[in-house]
Amino acid sequence: GNTYCFNTANQNMKVNRYYQIEQELRKPILYEQLSVVYQPLINLKNNKIVGAEALLRWHHPQLGNVTPIEFIPLLEELGLIIPVGKWVLRSVCNQMKQWQDTGVFLERVSVNVSPLQFQNSDFLLDVKQVLAETAMDPHLLEIEITENALLNINESLNTLLALKELGIHISIDDFGTGYSSLSYLKELPIDTLKIDKSFIQSLNIDGEILVNTIINMGKNLNHTVLAEGIETKDQMAYLKNQHCHEGQGYYWSKPVNSEEIVKLKMLEDGSTFEKDAHY
Ligand code: C2E
Ligand code: MG
Ligand code: MG
Ligand code: MG
Repeated sequence: GNTYCFNTANQNMKVNRYYQIEQELRKPILYEQLSVVYQPLINLKNNKIVGAEALLRWHHPQLGNVTPIEFIPLLEELGLIIPVGKWVLRSVCNQMKQWQDTGVFLERVSVNVSPLQFQNSDFLLDVKQVLAETAMDPHLLEIEITENALLNINESLNTLLALKELGIHISIDDFGTGYSSLSYLKELPIDTLKIDKSFIQSLNIDGEILVNTIINMGKNLNHTVLAEGIETKDQMAYLKNQHCHEGQGYYWSKPVNSEEIVKLKMLEDGSTFEKDAHY
């Protein structure tokens, strides 16, 4: 009856949108619709900005803003995450070089790298090429990979060691949600563990034990531990109290454009990044 018709129409709409997005992603003009935003990373001890995470944005004239949750998996499926990922890295390195030259001091900027990109045989070459092209100091660059990029521990180790050799920092993103074994945490040259935001959200319910355990494990392994998705003062205070090193989330700031992150950084100079002072 009516229900059946409704479902079919709804499904058709979803399929149509899927194909439309896919077609738009294949067009060379895509690169003119992409941009990068930056979300501050905060030192929980002194409440200061230590760096930023670069996040990709896509604005299409008809489709509007499409979220990465929707288009990154499609880019992966289409094999386009390799060139687009390289484009992101180049944009970020160019931006950082510009910041470096104009005296803006961000300790590090992190770039998300998809497992497919990380495992691609040209990945290291691409990274070296972008670094050479942009003359960016690799010590300021951090690469974020998820646990799922590390399923082949031997291959991962070689890639990670080569990145470390270049001076690049490594962080494990969305930690606690992937499928790899814990042993790699000890074996691989990792700098930062980013606790997935789902654990931080669960602090309001009964998530303390898991969060505390991850923080302690990360610290015992000498990693920097960062909590993602901090939205409330209570969450911030709890994590600070557990001596989690760093935080990131809407509590301080949403991802903002390159001019705005510089403003946030400038504003805090001489003072701490007190949310209420700016908003
Ligand atoms: P992610 O790397 O874990 O990035 C953090 C995501 O959490 C971002 O979503 C950010 O906007 C969001 N977020 C930050 N603070 C809060 C908060 O307090 N509460 C909540 N609910 N969310 C918060 P975004 O920008 O939509 O990106 C989603 C995912 O898409 C990223 O998750 C990352 O996996 C992927 N992604 C984004 N940019 C890139 C990219 O350039 N390359 C690749 N391969 N993946 C990317
Ligand atoms: Mg990330
Ligand atoms: Mg994450
Ligand atoms: Mg993620």
